[in-house]
Parts: sequence; C-alpha cells; structure tokens
Amino acid sequence: MGNDEEKHCNLIMNKERKLIIAGNWKMNKTAAEALALVNSLKLEIANVKEVDIVVCPPFTALESVSKAILETKNIRLGAQNMSENNFGAFTGEICAGMLKEFSVRYVILGHSERRQFQKESDALIAKRAAAVHGAALKPIVCVGETLAEREAGQMEKVLETQVRGSLDGLTKEQMVETVVAYEPVWAIGTGKTATTQQAQDAHAFIRGVLAKKFDAATAKKVRIQYGGSVKPSNAKELMGQPDVDGALVGGAALEARSFADIIKNSI
Ligand code: PEP
Repeated sequence: MGNDEEKHCNLIMNKERKLIIAGNWKMNKTAAEALALVNSLKLEIANVKEVDIVVCPPFTALESVSKAILETKNIRLGAQNMSENNFGAFTGEICAGMLKEFSVRYVILGHSERRQFQKESDALIAKRAAAVHGAALKPIVCVGETLAEREAGQMEKVLETQVRGSLDGLTKEQMVETVVAYEPVWAIGTGKTATTQQAQDAHAFIRGVLAKKFDAATAKKVRIQYGGSVKPSNAKELMGQPDVDGALVGGAALEARSFADIIKNSI
C-alpha cells in the first residue's frame, strides 16, 4: 500500500461517524427510469456495507423504487421535501404519512434550490425538521453560502444563521439523528467543487456551531455531508477529511456507475 493510500485507509478507519452518501435525483427520472436506475445501482453496490446509502427519487417514483429495494439491505429511501403539516388543504404538498407508506427513511429539507425558488426560510425548514422527527424519519438539512456571500466574507455568518435557524427547536436526541448537508451554492451543478480544505473548514465550523447550540458531545455525533459537484474522482479526498461524513450527490447520482464509484472510492 502506498503512503497516500495508507493514510486514506487510516482516516476512513478512524472515522467516528459512519459515512452517509445520498443521491438527490431532483426532478429527473420517471417511475420507469427510476426503477431502471435503482436496479442497476443494486448490482453495482451489492456488497457495500460500510456506508449508509440513500436514494432520493421524485415523489412519483417512490413507490417503484421502494418495491425495488424492499429486499435490499444496503439502500435506504429518501424524499426530497416534506410538509410540516400532517394532512389537510395544502395543495401540492406531501406529508409524512404519505412518505411512510413507501418506507421512506430520510427527507431532504431546505435544499438551496428550494430556498431559492420556493423561498423556503430557516423557520419553515425548522418546522419541517420537527415534523420529520415527529414521524420518526430523519431529516437531511441543507445549508450553504452563495458565491457572493463567500466573496463578501460572509460565509461563517450565513452558515451560523442557517444552522441555528433551520435546526431550531430540535432536542439533542433529535439532532443526533439529523444529517446536515453543507452545500456551497456555487458548487452545486457547476462542476466547481470546494477544495478539501474549504470543505473541511466549513464542516468544522458547522460542527462548532452545533456544539454551541447543543453541546460538544451532540455535535461530535452529527453526520455532516458535503454536496457540490461530488464525482468519483474527488470523493476519496473529500471523504478523507475528518469532519466530512458523507456526500449529497446530484448530477453524478443520476447514473448508477458514477454514483457507485463515488461510494466505492469513499471506503
Ligand atoms: C445537490 O443538488 O444537492 C448537488 C450536490 O448537486 P451536484 O452534485 O450536481 O452539484
């Protein structure tokens, strides 16, 4: 084993938290296409146990994907959003009970696209995170600064506000079962990845905010994913950072081989 490889193995083995790698399929894939994708993925990662693997298809494909992974032990199902309400006159919304019908385990909340296009606020995301926990599901709460905010030296302020606001009201026990996804907006879908140092610095900062808001022991247990143009070629280095506990993957999750390679390169 070469020095670099050895160093990487030691880092992974010393990870305090199990890696969690999730594919956010966004508004892509019909139910039939989603089924084909998950079936290919099943073959690609049949023997992987070291990482929690989550796929988040659009709502319309949850049923087909759920059935396809029923017997699969290593792939969990996630949704891309959820209402804070349990039922009622909320046209176009989806509630926890509807997701649980398809054995959904994780729910992405506050993705930057929803913050931008649906104007979702930290307060709304916090309500949704509470509802997700209320239904015994696990939220993946996204935070991240824009390029303008980073260049204006506002990154830490923005992250602190988002982390505190979006996770407000959670108990320590709920926080431990919450995944935070650090997704710098300038790296999403752009092909620009944060450097490993930029990712590590932001993750360490977020963990510090969690320690102040909850406590150090809680913060130590929370898994923080990196998201933003993760691909097979950069996964290993990113996952090797001490505070990077997985990835939220967009574009590269739409193809079974590249998503599988990200997972395999991370262990
Ligand atoms: C995302 O949208 O969550 C994401 C990280 O996308 P991409 O991997 O395509 O940058």
